[in-house]
Amino acid sequence: MSDCLFCRIVAKEIPNLTVFEDERVLAFHDINPAAPVHILLIPKQHFSSLAEVSNEDQALLGDLQLRAVQIAREVGLEDTGYRLVINTGVDGGQTVNHLHYHLLGGRLMQWPPG
Ligand code: AMP
Ligand code: ZN
Repeated sequence: MSDCLFCRIVAKEIPNLTVFEDERVLAFHDINPAAPVHILLIPKQHFSSLAEVSNEDQALLGDLQLRAVQIAREVGLEDTGYRLVINTGVDGGQTVNHLHYHLLGGRLMQWPPG
């Protein structure tokens, strides 16, 4: 059994509210939403963070990002806008060490982030 929370979600050992799934990507609702829409997109393959990816992963990263755009459209965020975030490492505020994109929307975001 993996000790990575998101690998355990991919393995269906921990339940999730799935928004999208294919052979490479899983998107699901964040358990502690920071906005009216808060969806996480992860590669099924484990990467500890964005800092772990390499040139070989270009297609996978493109896939994740394009999927985020498609989901944003499907949940009705296209007109109002949204934010796509990858927290990376300690200073980036990353708490789960499996690469994930946050898709946030449904309210006005502040800048700069805290
Ligand atoms: P980060 O702080 O960028 O590493 O984001 C981790 C995110 O995972 C947070 O927004 C958490 O609320 C979310 N999270 C933690 N556990 C779960 C879970 N079991 N299901 C869905 N989201 C989770
Ligand atoms: Zn993992």
